[in-house]
Amino acid sequence: MYDLIIIGGGPAGITAATMGINQRLETLIIAERWGGQTTYAMQLEEMEGRENITGETLLDAFRRQLDYLDFVRRFDTVAKVMPDEQHFCVDTARGDRFEGRALIMATGAKPERLNVPGETRLAGYGLSYSAATHTGLFLGRDVAVVGNGRRAQWAAAGLARKAHHVYLLAPEPLTDTPLARSLHRMQNVEIAEGVAIKEVCGERFVESIKIAT
Ligand SMILES: Cc1cc2nc3c(=O)[nH]c(=O)nc-3n(C[C@H](O)[C@H](O)[C@H](O)COP(=O)(O)OP(=O)(O)OC[C@H]3O[C@@H](n4cnc5c(N)ncnc54)[C@H](O)[C@@H]3O)c2cc1C
Repeated sequence: MYDLIIIGGGPAGITAATMGINQRLETLIIAERWGGQTTYAMQLEEMEGRENITGETLLDAFRRQLDYLDFVRRFDTVAKVMPDEQHFCVDTARGDRFEGRALIMATGAKPERLNVPGETRLAGYGLSYSAATHTGLFLGRDVAVVGNGRRAQWAAAGLARKAHHVYLLAPEPLTDTPLARSLHRMQNVEIAEGVAIKEVCGERFVESIKIAT
């Protein structure tokens, strides 16, 4: 029986495990792999020379603390969690069962995917899931944002200040917000409503997007 079981190998899970070990708790961390979302990196054509610190580099210091403690970590996927009055049972995809007095679910988030050809291959090569992080990289470039809600609108507005031209490709009509109205007035923003994304194209980097209206 563990004092603490943590699910997830991203920054939150690794930090929780480190704290648990420091508190002398019998700790187990179960993760599909180390890093979580911090392993996403982004490259653009002609971006060589730009200095980058990857999330992985940042995580290395944390990770090393756990790497030498073989007995606190399992690389596996948690398939089922069953709470009990006294403890938790955690079943993994490989068929192991672990029991713990406390459980931290640090399973993070996954980006909403388009599920179209080219997406997986070009993710990180011009295709980003985080406008907040990558807006600066699109300085002077043409960029498309997919979505119709507030987050897509904020992304398009932020990019419009840096990028050369912004295409806002909205699967449905834009949610009516003051921001949507000002986007319609922006010179370098072009809005296409009711479009379906068919393919993300490009050899090494994103070059174009196929859509259907
Ligand atoms: C492209 C991009 C750029 C970003 N840039 C920045 C930035 O510049 N600055 C910043 O502060 N933040 C940035 N973020 C956000 C940051 O990466 C996240 O906030 C952070 O990784 C969240 O950490 P987490 O540990 O909560 O979750 P995650 O990093 O999502 O980790 C969750 C982990 O849980 C694992 N997991 C999930 N389900 C299971 C299961 N059933 N069994 C076992 N394991 C499971 C996953 O495999 C993953 O390893 C960025 C995110 C993205 C996607």
